[in-house]
Amino acid sequence: MRIAHLKLSGFRNYPELYFTPGEGINILHGANAQGKSNVLEAISLLATSRSLRASRESELIYRDSEMAHVTADIDRDMEGEVELQVSVFQGDKKAVRINGSKRARVIELLGEFNAVFFGSIDIPIVTGEPSTRRHYLNIEISQISPKYVYNLGHYKRILEQRNRLLRDLRDRPRPPSETGIDAWNQQLIEYGAPIIEKRMFYIERLAPIANSIHQDLTEGNETLSIRYMPSVNLNELISPAANTEAMVREAPAEGYSSSIPAEAAPTNHDHLGRGDANAANTTQRIAELFESQLNAICMDEARRGTTLLGPQRDDIAFLINGAEVRTYGSQGQQRTAALSLKLAEFQLIEQFVGEPPVILLDDVMSDLDDLRRRRLLEWLHRRCQSFITCTNLRSFPIEILNAASTYRVVAGTVTPDDRTGTIESIEEQDEIEAGEGGASQTLVSTESP
Ligand code: ATP
Ligand code: MG
Repeated sequence: MRIAHLKLSGFRNYPELYFTPGEGINILHGANAQGKSNVLEAISLLATSRSLRASRESELIYRDSEMAHVTADIDRDMEGEVELQVSVFQGDKKAVRINGSKRARVIELLGEFNAVFFGSIDIPIVTGEPSTRRHYLNIEISQISPKYVYNLGHYKRILEQRNRLLRDLRDRPRPPSETGIDAWNQQLIEYGAPIIEKRMFYIERLAPIANSIHQDLTEGNETLSIRYMPSVNLNELISPAANTEAMVREAPAEGYSSSIPAEAAPTNHDHLGRGDANAANTTQRIAELFESQLNAICMDEARRGTTLLGPQRDDIAFLINGAEVRTYGSQGQQRTAALSLKLAEFQLIEQFVGEPPVILLDDVMSDLDDLRRRRLLEWLHRRCQSFITCTNLRSFPIEILNAASTYRVVAGTVTPDDRTGTIESIEEQDEIEAGEGGASQTLVSTESP
């Protein structure tokens, strides 16, 4: 899938932008704080309906404007052209239009357009806390499975209520028959087991792809293992190979944080499935294991006043050549592991959806060594539409620059570099960066068409 046109209106530092990107690699270059990442954030909003960086979505609105709109015409091989619009209003309210018609729920956007973002904010997926990894899983799986979103929203509500009851039991102990916990257990399992099943399936599919990409980026010097570390013991369901290196690590007791709405009903576009019968069998077995393990710790839970088992305590382990990346990896290894993960996610979405998503790389070139950078660009070349931000073009090989569309971003404007022929030297590259070539193309302007 490709973005044919992107229109921003009152979004971040863009009062207006009308942008017609190229079909392959698009490089947005410019000084700091000019609006490069903001373009990527706008594209990502169309895929996920959520802001990448803002803690409050009204931060996306240009200065004192009332609202922000991100609109794009998307070309899709499988499902044809579509116009998507996400609007953000003061008070963090959002609205979604698909082909001009307003949808009742923002969640209906999911699955219409897929994009994979990678930037420094993703490094904590590898280096940060388990909650960061769970959040990552939730966002990624949501893109391809609306059912997951539905289950997650319900699970969160049940978990809160169950925790309230457990706190009460801790403060006012009573006999097991009088606790009323069983009803909550059933609901916790009903929504929790399918979440675990999707996470397990997603990571099972993701891990070998990520390893193959990681090996490619490092010319075979490093292997990357990614392991699902569910809090419910699923040893009998996870392949033995996946468990040989698995570490025993208890996830910290913490609240479950998902801002994904519960009212979302499952829709079509559910791409993440192992086949109905198989998924149902696996989910059933997970539910049985979840239930028996919950029963075994019920006294402990009542004593501690919180739910000790379930998706809210899951984790993912990353190992390079057998050593945990979070603890033993160099910065470059941690970055490459996170990048491999994201590129694997790209391939997985491509497999599930049947066409490549758009890829968004935010300022990652300068952090990779020459080999990793070259391998990454080779990987991207001709594979999909991509948007890459950087402060200068020096980190790109000339053959990539000649194949790419390059744009200079200055204070909320995006201007195509004037390049009539191919670039043959570093000096020419520098001229483009300095903007000496001028901008004579009309491909991009800050005005509406
Ligand atoms: P860097 O190279 O440092 O990453 P960048 O070009 O990627 O820079 P962005 O993060 O895209 O920069 O844009 C930052 C600019 O956008 C800053 O000047 C910031 O003040 C401005 N900005 C962010 N949010 C808003 C907003 N809601 N309204 C107006 N301007 C905003
Ligand atoms: Mg930036």
